[in-house]
Order: sequence, then structure tokens, then C-alpha cells
Amino acid sequence: MEDREQYLKSNRRYLLPLFVLICGLSATALATYLVNENLRYRERQQLQDVRYQVERAIYSRIEAYIGLLRGGAGLFAANQTVTLQQFRQFVQRLEIQKRYPGLQGFGYSIHLRPQDLAPLESSMRRQGLTDFTVWPSGDSNELHSIVFLEPPDARNKRAIGYNMFTEPTRRRAMIAACDLGEPRLSGRVELVQESLGEDFQPGFLMYLPLYLGGDAPEDVHARRARLQGFVYSPFRAGDLFSSVAAQLQLRGQAFAVWDGNYVVDKSLLFRSSPAFDQKNVRDFSRMQVYGNTWTLAVARIPGGQAPVSTKTLWIIPLLGVIASLLLCYFTYAEIGQALRRKESERQLRETEETFALLVRLAEEYAIIIMGPDGRITDWNPGAQRIFGYVDEEVVGRESAIFFTPEDQAAEIPEARIRKAEADGQVSDEGWRVRKDGSRLWMSGSVVCLRTHDGRVRGFAKILRDITERKQTEESIKELNLELEERVLRRTAALQESKEQMEAFSYTVAHDLRAPLRAMQGFAHALQEDYRERLDESAFEYLTRIMRSAERMDALIQDLLEYSRLSGSELTFQSIPIAEVVQSAMQRLEGEIARAGAQIELHLEPAHAKAHRATLENAIANLIINAVKFARPGTTPKIIIRAMEQNGSVQICVQDNGIGIAPEHHGRIFRVFERLHAEDGVPGTGIGLAIVKKGVERMGGKVGVESEPNRGSLFWIELPKADPAG
Ligand code: ADP
Repeated sequence: MEDREQYLKSNRRYLLPLFVLICGLSATALATYLVNENLRYRERQQLQDVRYQVERAIYSRIEAYIGLLRGGAGLFAANQTVTLQQFRQFVQRLEIQKRYPGLQGFGYSIHLRPQDLAPLESSMRRQGLTDFTVWPSGDSNELHSIVFLEPPDARNKRAIGYNMFTEPTRRRAMIAACDLGEPRLSGRVELVQESLGEDFQPGFLMYLPLYLGGDAPEDVHARRARLQGFVYSPFRAGDLFSSVAAQLQLRGQAFAVWDGNYVVDKSLLFRSSPAFDQKNVRDFSRMQVYGNTWTLAVARIPGGQAPVSTKTLWIIPLLGVIASLLLCYFTYAEIGQALRRKESERQLRETEETFALLVRLAEEYAIIIMGPDGRITDWNPGAQRIFGYVDEEVVGRESAIFFTPEDQAAEIPEARIRKAEADGQVSDEGWRVRKDGSRLWMSGSVVCLRTHDGRVRGFAKILRDITERKQTEESIKELNLELEERVLRRTAALQESKEQMEAFSYTVAHDLRAPLRAMQGFAHALQEDYRERLDESAFEYLTRIMRSAERMDALIQDLLEYSRLSGSELTFQSIPIAEVVQSAMQRLEGEIARAGAQIELHLEPAHAKAHRATLENAIANLIINAVKFARPGTTPKIIIRAMEQNGSVQICVQDNGIGIAPEHHGRIFRVFERLHAEDGVPGTGIGLAIVKKGVERMGGKVGVESEPNRGSLFWIELPKADPAG
């Protein structure tokens, strides 16, 4: 993961896109080069084609002119002498100007020795050319004077008599024609006919030798010796080549012809267009025309149409560069994407592996995978262990096999699948059946698995055996029921005994006191009415009977008070402690006076939340005890305190009496517990029990601090109350 991220961030990520870019640009450059080369090649081809056409046209034209000259030679061969008249007629029939463009004229020059000059001039003058002279005569032994030159226009007339042999270019061609016995073309010349400045054109001449006696002699010497003259034609190069250009109807190309091998201005014979530019020329060709060389060149001219337009050539590199950049970018993006995709694949695989591991390890759980039809496709070892089947017995079957026959009959398995499909998940608990038929209480869920587009892919069922828990729950439930029942029974019994107790108290209060009163009444009557008849001891017995009856009455009253405290509801009020202490003391005025007890009061104005009569009773009980249990021969001194302390009220009754051993401090608060019964101190042993019960019922506490012969301190603690309440 970190490696990949590092790779994503590192420069190495740019290598492949860079490589793609370089390849793309190279391919673009190569393609541009090849297309360009191809265009150039095709252009060259096309120019070459044009050049061939031009060459062919020129050659055929020259051949036609040569043919014309041969015709002229025929005229001379057929006649001993050819007169001007005959020659003129011959040429007229050729219709030179019409049929042979560029041909300036058709002429005949005669080979002369200096001694032949005079006879020729006189002969010519005789034929009507009155001002005929051979010019320039030159210093050579050999002269070649133009004698006939048709058509007799102004230009040609100017050339009559001209001794062509004096001019080197013409002479070279003439000698070559004579020596070879073949037609020869001269180099570039300025025709005698041309008047400078006016439509000047360079020219050349074509010579065909005529020999005395007809055919060309075998050897050069004989040819020279027997040379009669030349049938010749002067050409205006411009006119000739223009007609060739016109014939070919060149468009977009132009050609130029130079005399000789050199492409220089002074040897230029013709340019078919003023736009022809030597710089655009790719190939030159040499034409061999009857002893002379012409250099021919064809070039494209501006405005001319290229075979394939090179104007759009820039599109190739442009598109190539754009495509390369795009490719580079896509590669860059694709690398990132591919790495991320790979990354998510890896994560997915890891998740799957983790999941598979968990499923395998989940021994406590039965995990069952089902297809969309509810048939089992896979399950985990936990399921195998729990249900006791092996793979082959389960895979392909419906999950209903795990349900009880009752559930199967009620179609519960199908309903659960349907519900899972509708709600996404369904959970419940119930009995499932193992292979051996034993039942398990299982809790579980069925989850509907869907594809990303929402189709049901199948279901996953997860179950857990909670039979033990179920059993524990069941037994707890049973226990609870039993307990409840027992509690009910006990409560009923208690209620019954309470009622019996109340009935008993009632009996004691009403039924026992009635005979007691009767006893007291009759004893009293005996003392009053039979006083004289009773002796001293009988009187004494009666007194004892009456005292016992009194004691029994007190006991019964205390018991009634005690049981009243347990049964009745008490209502609490805010009670001023000082008041209650005072009224308790008033109640005991007689006892206090008889004992000669001294009482000291330290009462804070405190209020307690209490039941007035119960509290007064309790305080009175404590005071009476303090009076009763005085040390013999000592005046009882009693201190009563009341104070507030931490949200509660404390009332203390302290005496200087006989005290209580610490081991008895707990006992004395129980019913009928008396420590000093034998000392003749009157009492029932219920007083402190009433104090404790009453105080506790009011939410308070009671206690004692005492040691034998050191006096006792009894205290009561009650919740404090606000004076207003
Ligand atoms: P009675 O006073 O009727 O005996 P009580 O329940 O009031 O019954 O008291 C129980 C016993 O606690 C008394 O018998 C006595 O032995 C002891 N006792 C109570 N108050 C005092 C006291 N102030 N000094 C010494 N002993 C006491």
C-alpha cells in the first residue's frame, strides 16, 4: 500500500507517459517527413512527366523541321539548278508560317570560293535581286552566302547575301553538318534578321548539307570537296518553344531551355513563363539535338497546382502533437487509475480473506449461505459442528431441514426467507433440529444479500446455540414463580397472624381488663365494707391483691400501647421539643415530687418531625426510668437536654442513678427485659421497648451511654423540622 502510494507520488510515475509522448512525437515527425517526401516525390514525378512531354514535343518538332529540310534537299537534287522562282514556289507550298511555328525562314546558302563571288553576285542580280552582295566577305577561303531565304519578308530580306561562315557558332554547325553528311543545329545565335530591341529573340539554325552529285560522299575530304551548300532554317527560339508550350497546355508548370550544358542567362533560349524560377528546379535534362545540347528544366510556378496540396501538410504534425499529448495524459491518468484499481482489488481480496477467516473461526456460530432460491450453497465448520451434518448432506438442500417438522408444516422457513427479502433482515429464536433429531434452542438472523443493482444474490443465516441459556432462563422463571408463590403464602400467613395478634390485643384490652376491674372492685369493696371484720393479715392480702391487679393493668396498658405502635399509622408534624418535655414532666409531677428528684432543663428551641403523643410517651418513659433507678440514699438529679445537630434533633435524659453495665445496653430495649426486677422497682419491662419502637417508627434512633454506678444517659435522635411546619 505504502509502496504504491510512493510510486504514485514518485517521479517514476512520469516515465511511461514521457515515453509515450516521445514515441508519439517521433511518430509524428516521421509521418510528417514521409508524407512530405511522398509529396515531393509525386511532385518530382509530375515535373518529370511534364519534362518528358516537353522533350518529346521538342524532338518531334525538330524532326518535323529536319523533314522539311530534307524536302528542300530533294528539290535541289531533282534540279540541276534551282531558280529563286522555283525555290519561292516550293516554300510557299510549305505554308511555313502557318504550319511550322518558330521557323523564321527556309533558305539555301551556297558554298563559294572567293573566285566564285563575282559570278554569283551577277547571277543573282540577274534573277532580280539587284542589290545582291555577299557580306561580309571574311578572310577565309571558304564562303557560305545565303542566296534564297523565304518568305521574303523584311526580316529575311536583311539576311540575303549574308556569309554565315564568318560567324563561329554557325560555322561550327556548318562544318559538322558537312563532315557528317547529316543535319546539324547551331548553338544560340542572334539571327541576322533580328533588329535589336524590337521583340528580340535568341535563335539557332538548322543546316542540312547538299553535295554536288547527290548523296553524301563516303569520306570527310570528299564531303568537304563536294559540298554544294546548305538547305537551312533560322529559328526564333521564342516562337518555336512557345508553340510547344501552347501545344502542351501546361498549367502550373513552366519550362526553360538553355543552349549548351550551362544554365546561365546568356545561354537561355526560352522561358515558358516569366514566373519560371530556376530555384524551383529539381532536375535538369540534357537534350541532344543534332549535334547540339540543350538543357531543359521544368519547374512549378506560383499559383500552379501541386499534385497534392502541401498547404494542409501542417495538419499532420499538429494533429500528431495533439494526439501525442492526449495519449501522454491518458497514460498518466490510466496509471493512477490502474494502481488505484489494483489497490481496491487488493483491499477487496483482503476483506474477503478476513471475512472467510472469521467465518471459519466462528466456531460458536452456524453460518449458512443460501442462494436466491433458498438452497444452501455453503456453510461454515461451526454449522457443521452444531447441526452434525457433513457438507454433501446439506449443500443444495433447503434450509428448512434445520427446522422442526411443526415449523416446516407451518411453512415458517419460507416465511422467514420472504420476510428477510422484504425487510432486509429478520431475527428470531426458536427450536432447530440436529441431524440426530435432537433439538437446540437457537437465536439467529437471516440477512438478504443483494447485488449492487438490487437483485437478490442470496441469503446469509447466522445462528447460535443458546439452549443452555434458554434452560437457565426457564429454571429461573420457574424458581421465580415458586418464590412468588411462597411469598404469597407467607404473606397470607403473616397477615393471618397479624390479624390474630390484633384480635389477641383486643381480647387483652377488653376481655382481660374487664375481670381485672371486677377483681379490683371487689377487693376494694371488701376493704371498705368488711374492714372491721378482717384481721390485719387479711387486710394485708387484700392490699396485695389490689397492687397486683394495678400492676397487671399497667402491664396490659403498656402491651396495648406497644401493639398500637406497631399497627397504627402515625401522622407527623413539626413538634416543639421544649413543649413536649414540659407536658411529659407535668404528667409525672407526682412521681418526681415523691422521689424528691431535681430536674435541670437545657432546651434549645428545636422542632422535630414527629408524632406528638408517641414522642411525649417516649420522653416520659425515659424520665420515669431516671427517677426510678436512682441510687439508694441519693437524691436523683436529672438533666434533660434538647439540641439541633446536623439536620436532626437530639433529646438526652441523663441521671445520676445506678447505671447499666455495657453488656446489657442492647437487652434493655427489648420487651420484658428488666435488669432490676428483684430490687422492688416497679415496672413492666416494656417501657424502653415502647421508646425504641416509637422513635424508630418516627424515623429516628435511640441509644444509651451508661456504666454501673455512674448514672445513665439515654438519647433520642429525630429528623429536624421547620418551626412553621
Ligand atoms: P421497667 O422500667 O418497667 O423495668 P423498662 O423497659 O423501662 O422497664 O426498663 C428496663 C430495665 O432497664 C429496667 O428494669 C432497668 O433494669 C433498666 N433501666 C431502665 N432505665 C434505667 C435507668 N435510668 N438507670 C438504670 N437502669 C435502668
